[in-house]
Amino acid sequence: MSEPSLLEIEIRRRIAAAGPMPVGQYMALCLGDPEHGYYTTRDPFGVRGDFITAPEISQMFGELIGLWMATVWTQMGSPENIRIVELGPGRGTLMNDALRAVQMIPAFREALVVHLVDISPALRSMQEQTLEHWGAPLSWHASLEEVPKGPAIIIANEFFDALPINQAVKAEDGWHERQIGIGENGQFAYTTARDPIAHFDMLLPPTVRQAGIGSIYEWRDNRPAMQLGKRLKDEGGAALVIDYGHTASGVGETLQAVGRHAYADPLSEPGDVDLTAHVDFAALAIGVQAMGAEIFGPITQAEFLTRLGIETRAATLKKKATSRAAVADVDAALARLVGMGRTDMGEMFKAASFTHAAVGVPPGFERAIRGSGNAGDPGR
Ligand code: SAH
Repeated sequence: MSEPSLLEIEIRRRIAAAGPMPVGQYMALCLGDPEHGYYTTRDPFGVRGDFITAPEISQMFGELIGLWMATVWTQMGSPENIRIVELGPGRGTLMNDALRAVQMIPAFREALVVHLVDISPALRSMQEQTLEHWGAPLSWHASLEEVPKGPAIIIANEFFDALPINQAVKAEDGWHERQIGIGENGQFAYTTARDPIAHFDMLLPPTVRQAGIGSIYEWRDNRPAMQLGKRLKDEGGAALVIDYGHTASGVGETLQAVGRHAYADPLSEPGDVDLTAHVDFAALAIGVQAMGAEIFGPITQAEFLTRLGIETRAATLKKKATSRAAVADVDAALARLVGMGRTDMGEMFKAASFTHAAVGVPPGFERAIRGSGNAGDPGR
């Protein structure tokens, strides 16, 4: 048995002092604790990295998003100043590929100012190294609220899945918040609050309300979604959110831990493994729409990237490839990004766009029915 991490000692201290800790608080500490959190203390994408995201799989992903941004900017009337905001940019790979793709549109290149929202000091410095050569103004912020006013195009890939979730378990007398305490073997273990959450049923979507005893419901603080919607409504612009998740709210536990490229127990090695949970796109849309922004999608990542022309881009890259291995790499990346298999991202990942009404229909969402529920949810 390895030594407990400093974060584990801190969580044990808090449980001893105040009793079992809500899942959301545990997740927030594991990911974002300034001293010991997973994102605040390391580069999770290093060679020993824990997971691989779409922009790290292929340059095609960021390039297509760059062209998406340029098209949205045109739809906005090509304003002379446009903020390009990325939430949780990781290593900066997506933005780097996007900026390369937009170099052929000089008016856009000159109009854009880049704002990066990230809590990780290690990743911030990596983003700077990756992006400074473009010469575009760069600045960093801890949250979207800190980004100065003005029309913006906002990108979030695998950002919302890293925000803490709360869980509740249904019992005869109502929904009880799920907590983390100390089990009989001395290790962290799930438990539930003694009293049900008052009037919780009233806040739930009907499908969740009817769930059976023992069902687990997960939800996030919806303020980030509401802030996003308010910003778009007040300042203009559009957002693109891509993440793994489901189209309709439902029950089921999706909290997962990944460490060193393998699934782990979410309750072991706090701060040393990545914790994420499915994004509930219906809940996200409710928050955004409540603040007056328009919503498009979600559609599957496969549908989105195909509509943006990923197959044509792949064909071009294959023509330019100088070896058979390079051709095979392009094919493998394409299959991973838009494939519908269980280990592919095409169906599991969804894309949604939120806009100011003046923007019109964003690229890729042309035939998507406005509002959620059109993509066909593969379930969880
Ligand atoms: N978009 C990147 C990285 C995804 S990982 C990619 O697709 O490769 C999640 C990113 O969000 C990391 O950069 C992490 O540091 C950042 N992050 C996590 N929680 C955050 C929070 N609460 N506020 C701001 N950034 C956060």
